Amino acid sequence: MLSNSLIELDRAHLVHPVASYRGHEKAGVRVIASGAGATITDAAGRRLVDGFAGLWCVNAGYGQQSLVEAATRQMQELPYATGYFGLGSEPAIRLAAALAERAPGDLNHVFFTLGGSDAVDSTIRFIRYYWQAKGQPQRDQFISIEQGYHGSSTVGAGLTALPAFHAGFGVPFDWQHKIPSHYAYRNPVGDDADAIIAASLAALDAKIVEIGGPERVAAFYAEPIQGSGGVLVPPDGWMKAMCDRCRSLGILFIADEVITGFGRTGPLFACTDDGVVPDLMTTAKGLTSGYVPMGAVFLSDAVYATIADAAGTAAVGHGYTYSAHPVSAAVGLEALRLYEDGLLANGVKAGARLMAGLHALRDHPLVGDVRGRGMLAAIELVVDKERKTPLPAAAEPSRRIFDRAWDNGLVIRAFTNGVMGYAPPLCCTDDDIDAILERTARTLDQTL
Ligand code: PLP
Repeated sequence: MLSNSLIELDRAHLVHPVASYRGHEKAGVRVIASGAGATITDAAGRRLVDGFAGLWCVNAGYGQQSLVEAATRQMQELPYATGYFGLGSEPAIRLAAALAERAPGDLNHVFFTLGGSDAVDSTIRFIRYYWQAKGQPQRDQFISIEQGYHGSSTVGAGLTALPAFHAGFGVPFDWQHKIPSHYAYRNPVGDDADAIIAASLAALDAKIVEIGGPERVAAFYAEPIQGSGGVLVPPDGWMKAMCDRCRSLGILFIADEVITGFGRTGPLFACTDDGVVPDLMTTAKGLTSGYVPMGAVFLSDAVYATIADAAGTAAVGHGYTYSAHPVSAAVGLEALRLYEDGLLANGVKAGARLMAGLHALRDHPLVGDVRGRGMLAAIELVVDKERKTPLPAAAEPSRRIFDRAWDNGLVIRAFTNGVMGYAPPLCCTDDDIDAILERTARTLDQTL
């Protein structure tokens, strides 16, 4: 049983990420005590299906003993090694090599971080360095997409386009620009794929002109599927079209795969779905299946060589104490083995069942849109399907939907705009997926 004192201690001392501090104090924490497969158990002993894999990160599921053993072995042998001073550790080197071998195109160079936000932050530093090295320091403007999320670091939060991450924090900076999202369900040009792609290209072109021409633009950032914006799936060909346009203008194209990497949409990296080879790519979350913190920035041969040659014998002054942490790297190597030994394949199978089941809910009076790919999905609730009228925020705040699903034994993400998000572990069985679907239907019926 959860003692009241734990709730009190949390209330008094633990500052939670992205939370209403006062709201949380009032509600009190829900403590998760353990997990196995796709299931978590709370401190009161209630079992729930985790339809969101923690924070879309526990891709391998809970209780994977080989991940625990990899961490234990590495901790016993060498719990820490720095990458500074020309030093390194075997798991970090092997993981970098394994990732480079599997990454699209010539993304052959890997810089390890602690998570996604510092991976995005690192790309900004690498890109600025790159353009200085190319003799084009005026390429210092960055473009990303409305509803996009690129983390919560001081600088990277300005590439993020969710208002909660801006208000009161002094971002975005004036060199951080946005173009509208491809969001098919509410796109002013409708849901036709060609029209959406044309509109995104036109918006990018117009933004580049507004900024002062392509020679001012350093980079364009895109998530293969916009996650935190509400699981917004671009039409097939959208990434490729945007990447090609950037390349034709000499603008670096960055794929932020922090959510979509490591089997979330099917393959190891979602940009391969569209045949895209970005100039830089960010990952985290599934890299270690959330068991230990780690992120990674992938750099193309050309980006890496330009930075390396410009620096010459001087240090490229970017790095962290915990870059390439050996314990995280050992877990990453084992996670990669698990993905390739069956988890990716199971995720594809389970994802098809999940998507089919969610599409079957389309006839529910509240379900306006169903979207997703693989084990990344969402349903968008509306009160009027014809007019696509969102749920009134005051009457049905996302917290209530989350709570109702929780009471039904299901963890989902309830976005503020009436969107229910799904990112279950790739190890889900048919029964797990069916439980997610049945509990979703029950939650919807109770929301009517
Ligand atoms: N980029 C994307 C696309 C993300 O979804 C996230 C987190 O959800 C981040 C970056 C930031 O990652 P982290 O929370 O590990 O710092």
